Amino acid sequence: MAKIAQYAYLGGECVDIVDAKISIASSAVLYGLSIYTVFFAKDLGRGTMQAFRLPEHYDRLVKSSRMIGMDNLETYYSYDDFLAVIRQLVQKNDLVGDHFFRFTVHAVEILPGVRTSGLTLSLSAFVYEAKNILPRDDAHIKTSLWRRTADCAIPARAKVNGAYVNSALAKQEALDAGCDDCLFLNQHGFVSELSAANIFLIKEGVLITPDASSDILEGITRKTIIELALEHGYRVIERKVALTEVYTADEVFACGTSAFVAPITKVDGRKIGIGESGPMTLEFRSKLENIHADTNSSMMTRL
Ligand code: PMP
Repeated sequence: MAKIAQYAYLGGECVDIVDAKISIASSAVLYGLSIYTVFFAKDLGRGTMQAFRLPEHYDRLVKSSRMIGMDNLETYYSYDDFLAVIRQLVQKNDLVGDHFFRFTVHAVEILPGVRTSGLTLSLSAFVYEAKNILPRDDAHIKTSLWRRTADCAIPARAKVNGAYVNSALAKQEALDAGCDDCLFLNQHGFVSELSAANIFLIKEGVLITPDASSDILEGITRKTIIELALEHGYRVIERKVALTEVYTADEVFACGTSAFVAPITKVDGRKIGIGESGPMTLEFRSKLENIHADTNSSMMTRL
């Protein structure tokens, strides 16, 4: 398990993580009515850290809250407030090493019934050691018997805590089968994503990934890979993807904040490509790692 930092943020102040509590009668607990984002921060040594694509993470939090009807998050917490909380946590925890920061907006109203608007909101944040959720190389995945929650049931492009029951069920099924993660199909039988990462296939040098209407979370790492690929002259196709296309791809990789770029070498017991991390996958992994460490990158914010 990843090590969690001692100080968290809740209700306007830094508190010990053991004291960061919300009520068992809140909508957040009763209905999973919280929205969140997790971002990566790289330790550059000598007390300096930088975070990956912070404005995009803030924007996604705001859009997630809008989608589910939690009103006007940006009027409660501006981007500057968000940044100030991050910097407070960095200082208070005296962080050493790479970390993930998880920011959540909880509906903390007590017993309002099942509704999403006009509720009291509270921002929480905590920090934990940046451990990859997938093996760095050679991840094996299994198609889940569970289907990805349809966007018309719970918005797939919003990071709603309650929706992660779907991910937990499928991930557990994969772990029980001796795999590292699940591969979700959507209700129409097309490839969607992993439990907490997006998927890319590489065929004859072209990157293919399920499109935004395949019930995916539109990942910030996914967007970055697409931008990097186009910048370097690769073709990228976002479209519906059939499972057998995954089986026959030259390379397959997962990407996400906590998966980084993870080569997938087996799907449903079938070897992918040569059964080893592929050259294009490794190229994108190192491009992402270079950005994380680049003090001049416009994608990084100094904390
Ligand atoms: N899909 C799901 C369901 C996720 O939880 C995540 C992790 N946030 C991703 C994809 C990857 O998104 P990102 O690159 O923004 O971390």
